[in-house]
Amino acid sequence: MIKFKDLQAQYQQLKPQIDAAIQEVLDEGNFINGRQVRAFEEQLAEYVGVKHCISCANGTDAMSLVLMAWGIKEGDAVFVPDFTFFATAEVVALQGATPIFVDVRRDTFNIDVTKLEAAIEQTIKEGKLNPKAIIPVDLFGLPADHLEIATIAKKHSLLVLEDGAQGLGGSINDKMACSFGDAATTSFFPAKPVGCYGDGGAIFTDNDGLAEVIKSLKVHGKGTDKYDNIRVGLNSRLDTIQAAILNVKLQYFIEHEFNSLRKHASTYHDHLNDIIETPSIPTGFISSFAQYTIKLKSKGERAILQMQLKSHGIPSHIYYPTPMHQQSIFSNHDCCNATNINSLELCSIVLSLPIHPYLHQEDIITISQKIKTILSNRNI
Ligand SMILES: *Cc1c(COP(=O)(O)O)cnc(C)c1O
Repeated sequence: MIKFKDLQAQYQQLKPQIDAAIQEVLDEGNFINGRQVRAFEEQLAEYVGVKHCISCANGTDAMSLVLMAWGIKEGDAVFVPDFTFFATAEVVALQGATPIFVDVRRDTFNIDVTKLEAAIEQTIKEGKLNPKAIIPVDLFGLPADHLEIATIAKKHSLLVLEDGAQGLGGSINDKMACSFGDAATTSFFPAKPVGCYGDGGAIFTDNDGLAEVIKSLKVHGKGTDKYDNIRVGLNSRLDTIQAAILNVKLQYFIEHEFNSLRKHASTYHDHLNDIIETPSIPTGFISSFAQYTIKLKSKGERAILQMQLKSHGIPSHIYYPTPMHQQSIFSNHDCCNATNINSLELCSIVLSLPIHPYLHQEDIITISQKIKTILSNRNI
């Protein structure tokens, strides 16, 4: 049976190591801040190539902690892609600030830097909000255009938070995802490229001062003494069992899974590229293929393909059906932008196909052939 993601197969592959890692935590009894947490943070910081990796409870908290540390508040504008998972915009609104939804590029699904700059200039011109930060997302595993974004941010004195929840493993010219911007965050939700067995997240930065503030904020705003609180924060920690699991999984991701994902993506590309739009990866960029997302000609064609794939036992998902500016909670927002044509179109035509390290090459070929048959029948 073809699964969209296969966490059971992964567990079977890693069972001896994972079971032993969990058992160690049970034997040692340090369920919060056990030695495995620090070990994991060190392993991940080294892999990503940043000075500080600070673990926390989930990818959404990770982003909130950065925005809190930066003092993002009501009256501030934060620029986010219109086509993303809700959390990217939610964390901005949670701080009382205003998310400005910027259209994405149709080819890469990531924030369009030309439109980003136009949105920043428009916001400055209107003079109602203070532009403070940009949150580019590494959607479906492909890093955003971080080099151009850095230039724009510098020009307008904006902070950059890389939302790398789906990005871990990707890179631009050998610089790893989650090392861009003033800070980056990721998520260990089970279905992400590196997932734990529950919720988890992390923050990355080279900035010592920012790291200090975040370490305080994630533990109730603690000062030097645990019972001296110097700010209002969160209780947001990665627990020791999750860290122990992640120590095993991260190493296996680096050594094996990442290459399988890339191999599967390239097989899809070879079999599908001449009949549908497959993901476009710019030169110098490497995607970790958190999702393998194709584009159909229309919403109707997508519906038929998805239904027929399902009838052949092949699961697929729509990431995402609604752009941020059309989310009910944001619909009265004065920053709604109906001109985000790419985001709107993508919501109607994208379909994510099964991709995970425990598929076989033959599965990818079978799925590709089914897609070819379904689409060619339709064109007659
Ligand atoms: C999953 C995800 C998040 C949130 O991560 P959680 O760990 O589920 O809180 C944020 N941004 C993007 C783009 C995501 O895909």
